[in-house]
Amino acid sequence: MASSHILSKSTFMRSVQCQKSLYLNKFSPELKDPISDSQEAVFQTGTNVGLLARQLFPDGEDSSPPTPFEYDQAIMKTSELIKAGTKVIYEACFIHEGVLCAIDILVKDGKGYKAFEVKSSTEIKPQYIVDASLQWFVLTNSGIKLSDMSIVYINNEYVRKGKLNLKQLFNQESVLSLAKENQLFIQQQIELAKATLKQKTVPAIDIGPHCSDPYECDFAGHCWKHIPEYSVFDIANLRATKKFAFYEEGILELSAIPEDAPLNEKQWQQISCELNNETIIDRPKIKEFLKALKYPLHFLDFETFQLPIPTFDGSRPYQQLVFQYSLHQQNKAGNIRHFEYLAKGDVDPRPQFIEQLIHDCTGLGDILVYNIGFERGKLTQLAIDFPAYKKPISRIVERLKDLMVPFQNRWYYVPQMRGSYSIKNVLPALVPELSYAGLEINNGGDASGVFSSIVEGSFEGNVEQVRKNLLEYCKMDTLAMVRILEVLKEV
Ligand code: SF4
Repeated sequence: MASSHILSKSTFMRSVQCQKSLYLNKFSPELKDPISDSQEAVFQTGTNVGLLARQLFPDGEDSSPPTPFEYDQAIMKTSELIKAGTKVIYEACFIHEGVLCAIDILVKDGKGYKAFEVKSSTEIKPQYIVDASLQWFVLTNSGIKLSDMSIVYINNEYVRKGKLNLKQLFNQESVLSLAKENQLFIQQQIELAKATLKQKTVPAIDIGPHCSDPYECDFAGHCWKHIPEYSVFDIANLRATKKFAFYEEGILELSAIPEDAPLNEKQWQQISCELNNETIIDRPKIKEFLKALKYPLHFLDFETFQLPIPTFDGSRPYQQLVFQYSLHQQNKAGNIRHFEYLAKGDVDPRPQFIEQLIHDCTGLGDILVYNIGFERGKLTQLAIDFPAYKKPISRIVERLKDLMVPFQNRWYYVPQMRGSYSIKNVLPALVPELSYAGLEINNGGDASGVFSSIVEGSFEGNVEQVRKNLLEYCKMDTLAMVRILEVLKEV
């Protein structure tokens, strides 16, 4: 039996962000952007957190529908469980005026119930209050007596020691008064959403800051089609409000920006380099940078992953944990050797990571990283978490140098960098023959997502193959640095 609902909680939340997104989701879902590996990992994470939080209120009855199309069964089951006086219900399902909601956990409280919505975030975001307000609206109007409405979320100060302590891992906070205050807004939004879904044509809503607030809209690929490949939206460090101000004036191309536009020096430099196909090379500064390098040079890059539920002792929720590195070593004569480490994911990767890194960095010479704050931050944290390695780690930290500096300071800038000094922009501009494009894993987010799923045991692909892909990706990062330095030497 199919469910008769008009709106679900997720489509309602879509409508709060954008009526066009609500409409397209219903009538043109094929226009959605494909889901990336890292988004997939985020969904899985949310599911895992939800399941774990159930243990705060154990031995409940699950009211989930057998399939996402059979919510009527879930509504009936919830009603039966409530009639039977069930103490704890998971995914309790309700419908009111065509709006369907499932609350993560419902706990009997005297004659009524307390509702708990679980979030894998470490704070209560404004959109969660809207979400809880909708739940309050549907549940209370369905006739259930609710005494409280709370959000359960992750406490990022919790440090795991032995068995997981769920009471410490999760925070619980009542949002009852805010949910009650929002009832008129919820009612109005439901009416608006229902009216939108009755329209014959797509709502005429233009792109705007709402496309990524509070969520990245999955129709962006469709709605942003008319934006040129390089536009005012690509001006580095320009606030979104200013970008949309240009857009609203019909200014899309860099060439259309008026001379008196309020942009800073670097932004004008980006525009002028693009329009005049100019390259900036500050040879004295580059020379100074290269002269200060001490051989043998090491090119180092880390990959990290983070999980809401700390898997290993001595780690916090969402702590970025190192699991992989690539290291190219180059002597003065130009000879190169490669070292690498990739954890298996079954035990805490950090101790072995540190030991092998210390071993591979033995000796002298600068250790070049790209964006020093990241590697230095991870090493500093490792020294705190594993004080036995404090000294050798601090010796590595002392040898770190940042290859990003010449690009961040625009000592070397070519139009293809498009105002960015990220290695993903610098590499194709400087070394076009070396590319991430052919790699199965070609960005840090996907590498992290895939490794997280291995640690969580939810990875379903070929582990050997994915390990090979991870090694290739990380190796590319440090090889890119070797080649970038060669280009700097050439100039
Ligand atoms: S991309 Fe923007 S305008 Fe298009 S549906 Fe999404 S939020 Fe609305």
